[in-house]
Amino acid sequence: NATGNVTGSAAALDALRRYFGYDSFRPGQSGLVDAILSGRDVLGVMPTGAGKSVCYQIPAMLLRGVTVVVSPLISLMRDQVDGLNDAGIPAAFVNTTQSGDEQSMVLAQAARGDVKLLYVAPERLETDRFRSFAAHTPISLVAVDEAHCVSQWGQDFRSSYLGIGEFIAALPSRPIVAAFTATATERVRRDIVHILGLRDPMVAVTGFDRENLYFDVIKLETKRKASWVAGYVAAHPDESGIVYCATRKETEALAESLNRVVPALRGASAGAAQAAGPVAVAYHGGMAPDVRERAQRDFVTDRVPVVVATNAFGMGIDKSNVRYVIHHNMPESIEAYYQEAGRAGRDGEPSRCTLLWNESDIVTRRRLLDNDYENERLTPEEQEVVRMSKRRLLDGMIGYCRTTDCLHLYMTRYFGETAPLIGRDGTPGGKCVGGCANCDSTFETIDVTDTARAISRCVHDVMYDWDDQNRPSRAPMRAGLGSGKIVAVLRGSRAQDVLSRGLDRCPSYGRLRETPEARIRDVLSQMTTDGLLFVSEGRLPVVGFGVRAAETVAPDFRYEIKRVERKERASRRAGEAGTGG
Ligand code: ADP
Repeated sequence: NATGNVTGSAAALDALRRYFGYDSFRPGQSGLVDAILSGRDVLGVMPTGAGKSVCYQIPAMLLRGVTVVVSPLISLMRDQVDGLNDAGIPAAFVNTTQSGDEQSMVLAQAARGDVKLLYVAPERLETDRFRSFAAHTPISLVAVDEAHCVSQWGQDFRSSYLGIGEFIAALPSRPIVAAFTATATERVRRDIVHILGLRDPMVAVTGFDRENLYFDVIKLETKRKASWVAGYVAAHPDESGIVYCATRKETEALAESLNRVVPALRGASAGAAQAAGPVAVAYHGGMAPDVRERAQRDFVTDRVPVVVATNAFGMGIDKSNVRYVIHHNMPESIEAYYQEAGRAGRDGEPSRCTLLWNESDIVTRRRLLDNDYENERLTPEEQEVVRMSKRRLLDGMIGYCRTTDCLHLYMTRYFGETAPLIGRDGTPGGKCVGGCANCDSTFETIDVTDTARAISRCVHDVMYDWDDQNRPSRAPMRAGLGSGKIVAVLRGSRAQDVLSRGLDRCPSYGRLRETPEARIRDVLSQMTTDGLLFVSEGRLPVVGFGVRAAETVAPDFRYEIKRVERKERASRRAGEAGTGG
């Protein structure tokens, strides 16, 4: 026991009050603090803002030696340290913004025991100066912030994180190691434990469910999204909201259209609308700094109720009374969605998170993912690993759009939290507490076995050329065609590029003439997520067979899609729903 302190819990609570002025721990915090104080390694998985820092700051105050905090962002270190010093906690940082002399001075203070929390970037651990400091100073705890950076399966892999485990192993006596992250995929967690060399860690996953948030997912054609948003904004005049868009251009176009359309929807005269000021402002990273800051200020101070933003908006913005967050496009991962949607209802009041999506969002996301070479420090192999991982993150997001399960449940399960959600109101199969559109909906199940079989057959047929007698070429002539062409062939399209390839002669041609195009697309897309089909990556994606493709020809193959009942769907699409809760 590194503390020599048997009453860890009481001392921890006392420290929480004394240094931070809080009366009680939040869910998960005390368990992590107690585990660290009892000498055990921990992995804490909590969403941003849940309060990870006190989980190592309090043990740092109660343990004997120095706590080394590894943090990736040099830019944030000074603020963190200033905040701690203000609270009377002896903390310091060493980083490249300091001269060699300054660094030596801080390290000397820490070696004397005058610094309890020492913040460093991972690169620092490899320097001779720091190694020699660490060899002669008792380090009781190493806290690793943003620990997912060790994993190539996460979103922000940093190769410098790979050296942390080795640094710890080289210390004269092994400290307690505490890792923290907001990223929770199983693979990333395994990497953290393995690469940092955590020993039998206590793993705590908490704080992900937000009971005051109502979650809704609405599938909507792209051209109808803007009017849905306008309808929603118009129906909620006294509420503050964030609308997230995928591109800078979209934010400006949508803000402009809201300012035009919403006053009219509310029946305001042109004069009254002018006097009331704008409904929405755009916000994105490409705006001039002063314009952007003004947009932010106008929103935060409630002068403008709605901000239409790219994901550049939100970092460090603390506005507690955001009543709704609407996503105009599907984000790249559940992590990203959770973080952005989670900006609603910080004050604990009922708020609504709505995700608008459609199949073309998926296509766009897949394409972006393949053209994403921004991380040039990675080798081609590493880039491929990152890309595969991003693809899986995207699949998690697609799953959220498609699920008919409770959306709270989907989200907390995704993050690995196992708290029971469904039926917490006491009724079997009851609604979730926070509320979500899926718990409030009835779903109809549609048997699409024949459609799925026809699609599968068509994917095969279009790989061949067909002669005038409807005979296929001896060998496949191509890897396949894009999903749009598959649909065109099945619908019996007379389009030039269908006819010029002789695809009107293949047996699949016109097979699904009677089936609506949107239905074929839905089924095709669900088959892709289910692994029956596989859409290749690259600039011109083609549809091929997935790992489960053989199932479609099995005699007992059955395939279904689920849809919200027609009546409810119509009202959701019209944006009639009020703020739930
Ligand atoms: P994270 O690192 O998980 O993103 P922080 O550690 O920065 O979150 O904490 C987020 C906010 O919550 C901070 O303002 C912090 O002071 C506050 N906080 C943390 N623990 C508690 C607590 N037990 N009670 C009240 N507020 C807390």
